[in-house]
Amino acid sequence: MKDVGFGMTVQDKNAPDLVPLYRLSDEMGMEFATATLHNSFYFVEAKNIIHDRPMVAKNFEALINELLRSNSPKKWFRAYFNHGLINYLYGQKRLLPCDMSFDTFFIDPYGDVMPCNGTKDKEVMGNLNTQSWDALWSSPEAEAVRAKVRHCDRDCWMIGSVSPAMHKYIWKPGFWVLTHKFKALFTKTPYSMYELKVCRDYRDGQVSKEELDRCSTCDLNCVVNNGLSAASQEQLRHKSGEEIVDADIADQLRQ
Ligand code: SF4
Repeated sequence: MKDVGFGMTVQDKNAPDLVPLYRLSDEMGMEFATATLHNSFYFVEAKNIIHDRPMVAKNFEALINELLRSNSPKKWFRAYFNHGLINYLYGQKRLLPCDMSFDTFFIDPYGDVMPCNGTKDKEVMGNLNTQSWDALWSSPEAEAVRAKVRHCDRDCWMIGSVSPAMHKYIWKPGFWVLTHKFKALFTKTPYSMYELKVCRDYRDGQVSKEELDRCSTCDLNCVVNNGLSAASQEQLRHKSGEEIVDADIADQLRQ
């Protein structure tokens, strides 16, 4: 079976399973994708946070070294993605610029076009049920969203926004991969999380956990906006989302 694999959202509770699960997927010849905790309207969550950053980062570090030792260029670039995940979970600036809404976008089931699914509130550029693509893409609403993206400080690191950035700014991950593949000629552990200054600073007591927590998008006082329209909210007052989907499928089957 092609293009089937494991996906793991790594956090405090499951981080020690990261490398064993990767090895299992590798033995089965399957893809292995990783992510870590994010907060956004799309996830209907604002309180996600990693507590033991060094422990989680150590597990990512072990995975990165396994990926770098493989013979697969795809895995080498996945190693870079996981390096970026360590950087993200320490609340640092993205390793690559974010150009969502300029050359990439996200469409939800309601036809709303957005820059991404990582923003705190739903940022709508337009709706494909009511506008043509050309009108939407050049609308003042789309420009306003682009201005917000240029100042976005969420620094998320999800494959949807990172993959296009890795292709666009290929020389950055490419140089990283080359450097670490060269190191892999001489050592079994070509990568260290302490290549990131923030990891060294935290280890050396230059920065505290509380300071790093403040760099995260976790907001304990946030009222989460789930991004649903008023009409959808009204529907959910009387039925569960599952009942709405079941009724819709049954209706389509009848037709
Ligand atoms: S950094 Fe980019 S992908 Fe993340 S929330 Fe901001 S605009 Fe969206």
